[in-house]
Amino acid sequence: MHAPEFDSVPIPARIQTIQQLTADTALFRLKLEEKLPSVFIPGQFIQLSVPAGGEIPISPADLPAEDGTMELCVRRFGHVTSLLHRTKEGDQVGIRGPFGNGFPVDAMSGKDVLLLAGGLGIAPLRSLLFHLLRHRSDVRSLTLMYGAREPAVMLFKNELLDLANTGSLRLLLTVDFLTETCQTEPACNVGLLPTLLKGVQLEPGHSCAAVCGPPPLYRCTIDELLRAGVVEDNIYLSLERRMKCGVGLCCHCAVGQYFCCCDGPVFRYRDIKDIPGAL
Ligand SMILES: Cc1cc2nc3c(=O)[nH]c(=O)nc-3n(C[C@H](O)[C@H](O)[C@H](O)COP(=O)(O)OP(=O)(O)OC[C@H]3O[C@@H](n4cnc5c(N)ncnc54)[C@H](O)[C@@H]3O)c2cc1C
Repeated sequence: MHAPEFDSVPIPARIQTIQQLTADTALFRLKLEEKLPSVFIPGQFIQLSVPAGGEIPISPADLPAEDGTMELCVRRFGHVTSLLHRTKEGDQVGIRGPFGNGFPVDAMSGKDVLLLAGGLGIAPLRSLLFHLLRHRSDVRSLTLMYGAREPAVMLFKNELLDLANTGSLRLLLTVDFLTETCQTEPACNVGLLPTLLKGVQLEPGHSCAAVCGPPPLYRCTIDELLRAGVVEDNIYLSLERRMKCGVGLCCHCAVGQYFCCCDGPVFRYRDIKDIPGAL
């Protein structure tokens, strides 16, 4: 796989639209002024530079389209993300990448595919979801299980319900709790994400799962996946670590003998299950 150099020059990109999804999270649709140096794989990330801010890693929420548009779903968190949230349509940012390995989409071929997203983890999984929907006949079945803290912070809910209505996707939603203002949420289960896997039984060897979410999600979700019959080799986890260089030079994102930026961010469960602190 061709990886951009550490000091590659950012490609200018213009912000076309900004869609506020929740109080602190927005979908930025960008138009790149040049092509990226290599084809993008779902789960890879870009380094986004915001003028007078710096660079941050972001996994696109959809792959760059033929016309150069790309979608980034970004939560306001610290310095750079706050500056991004203050930009306006028409402003310019910079993109370097793609970096990292991405999800092994070829290995998913012919399988029952489960996507499990917790919170903001839906952003990288959305690009995998769209990829698989564009190649729907390649996989046997496609299920998205998505958990959010409460209904008000569930991202892309209407879009996901529309996709499920087409029949190409089985969608299961859950929230940790219902708020006082929202005591009924007909489309949602109430409980943590792994509760959606209770009672699910899959064919070992013919099923695979891609997981992305906050760190506490991984252990309990993996336990349920293994119980449901998904084998260790077929569980793919997208890990988030503090990254600086993006190409395995600075060691900020070490996970045991691996670097999250270039060996990951997607890892097979079997490869990292015994590394202390990986999960
Ligand atoms: C591969 C990858 C993909 C990502 N994709 C997305 C995405 O699609 N959407 C999105 O909103 N965010 C994503 N992130 C997270 C995003 O990169 C961080 O939120 C961003 O770097 C924070 O920068 P900041 O300048 O706003 O915060 P800072 O001002 O740098 O940090 C604020 C606080 O958060 C801590 N912090 C910052 N980044 C991290 C981190 N990665 N892990 C743990 N603590 C951290 C800092 O130590 C500090 O305490 C991704 C991260 C990675 C590694």
